[in-house]
Amino acid sequence: IFKGYIERIPNETDMELKLENTIKLEAPKGSGAFLVKNLYLSCDPYMRGRMRDFHGSYLPPFVPGSVVEGFGVSKVLDSDNPNFKPGDIVSGFTGWEEYSLIHETAQLRKVQPDDMPLSYYIGLLGMPGFTAYVGFYEVCAPKKNDYVFVSAASGAVGQLVGQLAKLYGCYVVGSAGSSQKVDLLKNKLGFDDAFNYKEEPDLDAALKRYFPEGIDIYFENVGGAMLDAVLLNMRNHGRIAVCGMVSQHSVSDPQGIRNLFNIIAKRVRMQGFLQSDYLHLIPRFVEDVTSLYKQGKITYLEDMNEGLESGPSAFAGLFSGKNIGKQVEVSNRP
Ligand code: NDP
Repeated sequence: IFKGYIERIPNETDMELKLENTIKLEAPKGSGAFLVKNLYLSCDPYMRGRMRDFHGSYLPPFVPGSVVEGFGVSKVLDSDNPNFKPGDIVSGFTGWEEYSLIHETAQLRKVQPDDMPLSYYIGLLGMPGFTAYVGFYEVCAPKKNDYVFVSAASGAVGQLVGQLAKLYGCYVVGSAGSSQKVDLLKNKLGFDDAFNYKEEPDLDAALKRYFPEGIDIYFENVGGAMLDAVLLNMRNHGRIAVCGMVSQHSVSDPQGIRNLFNIIAKRVRMQGFLQSDYLHLIPRFVEDVTSLYKQGKITYLEDMNEGLESGPSAFAGLFSGKNIGKQVEVSNRP
């Protein structure tokens, strides 16, 4: 249950677990709804935006006292909707609860049973993977041999961006917040290089070290001081795909960005994007990424938390970098 609006960085007390034993495990006749058992729930940084009493964003705020909404992979148990039958597996918006009654199916996908792990439908083959895919191919305008920099590079989105960029023939460096993550980037995810930004007193100097010839593409996940340093290191006609600014989720000022003038001098194209504007590309994305995965050309790191009760702390952990890879909450074992 979402407790109430906050302006600070989230912590685990912003949600509470409520036990309800009176729920009828059926889809009421005439409701058009279906009942699901939630298997995997997704912890995503964008959910922080729904914890503010602000109505001007692309999703409405959560309602205090209501079940937290988020992406999940669920199994249909009972259905009053002719398009969904018991046994179907679906991915899309559901509740952070054991069982949910689903009325809204606009953004729901039926998952075709194959040999991909079901949890991937909220990660590699879900919203974060899709964000990486459209962000890289549709927004970054990549070219072979481009110098690509990815921040929050070991996370749900960043790890796939880096791997797609490598497959495209780019030179890829990632930043992350621990030596363990840096090691994974270099030795498991195939990045050419990586660094721990927390150990770099001067981000501009660090970027100059990793990109002596400058950056063609910056896949922006964090904002703040990193963005400011990147602006000093972009090459002429470079592209910045602004996917997220996780370091700025709790502040309304632009954290002293001083180097924006470089966008003019270097003719940089800086574009924000939302994955939801590209939903028509989902079939191509699922086909491409499944195929790459099955050929062993990409891999995907997940950080699994067991049980609904661990959801709030797993979610809060996104803002301190506790997660290693895509943060997944295992609601119930399938
Ligand atoms: P991650 O799995 O990458 O988790 C968040 C990570 O951000 C943390 O692990 C941490 O990694 C890093 N981080 C947290 N706080 C800070 C900070 N203050 N400064 C620098 N880094 C920080 O999340 P996702 O991959 O799911 O999301 C990445 C970004 O993409 C987010 O900004 C998100 O909002 C955005 N997004 C945008 C979408 C769109 O359509 N535009 C869709 C989906 C996501 P580390 O240890 O490396 O610091």
